[in-house]
Amino acid sequence: MSIANLIPFYRKGGEDAMSYLVEDTVKCDECGSRQLKKDESRGEVVCEDCGLVLEDKVIDQGAEWRVFSPEQGDQRARTGAPMTVMLHDKGLSTDIDWQNKDYSGKSISSRYRSQFYRMRKWQKRSRVSNATERNKAMALAELDRMASRLELPKTIRETAAVTYGKAVDARLIRGRSIEGVAAASLYAACRICENPRTLDEIGEASRTGRKEIGRTYRFMVRELRMKIPPTKPEDYIPRFCSGLDLDAEVQSKAYELIAAAQEKELTSGRGPTGIAASIIYIASVLCGKRRTQREVAEVAGVTEVTIRNRYKELIQNLNIELEI
Ligand SMILES: [Zn+2]
Repeated sequence: MSIANLIPFYRKGGEDAMSYLVEDTVKCDECGSRQLKKDESRGEVVCEDCGLVLEDKVIDQGAEWRVFSPEQGDQRARTGAPMTVMLHDKGLSTDIDWQNKDYSGKSISSRYRSQFYRMRKWQKRSRVSNATERNKAMALAELDRMASRLELPKTIRETAAVTYGKAVDARLIRGRSIEGVAAASLYAACRICENPRTLDEIGEASRTGRKEIGRTYRFMVRELRMKIPPTKPEDYIPRFCSGLDLDAEVQSKAYELIAAAQEKELTSGRGPTGIAASIIYIASVLCGKRRTQREVAEVAGVTEVTIRNRYKELIQNLNIELEI
């Protein structure tokens, strides 16, 4: 999908801040969904189903950077590009200010200045020499923290760590946060191990938002030329069902319905989480263990609108009578 393809549909979408791109030719190249929304304020197209940002603006608004020393300030002013230092210690250590001010903003007396100068020098040196190693160590800790929160098996943690290492070696960390790249690595690892988590789930366990994770993930896939298998709706059934406290009966009903839907080709061009969510909703009603669309939407990280649209299509084409 290219920007050129999208331009006519932006216009069609009107002045809404978020407008749907309903044209059949445009679909998410990650999950195949056609539920694409344009976020006017950021100039991005976001997939409603898998949450990935499909097109970024030419200028990345997300990159923020700070200046840690006068020399850095000069360097960056000259290069002009938004650049973030590789912050292995992001948010965890205190920077010694370069302006010779104490934290209340008052000037530091000359008595302490030389001491500060030495500390800054030391801090800078240790930062450069150990940056890569410490970056990896921080990322591993972050990966472990997220993985245990998400109760992910060891194989996924290890795959994520390897993916993160590749990103570091390819210098993809520049301009990105450890948290963002770690979360994107974990998201990728889940998919590689065919145990996908939604961007919402990863986002909840992460210190960054799902948009940044999705954006970083796509960047990594592109730069590292990763081959990531598409996710299947059935991959999500057990987890969504347990999240909704639905038993084995509903689960097997859901698998049955997915097989039937796939046979009739009702799942292509649809986001897998949206399909899984609608199927679970239908299965819960059929088994007399009804969950509301809102409840299912929340667990699956999709909108109620998506569930409503999918389930209408599904029950119609599968000839299911639902008493709601
Ligand atoms: Zn998608």
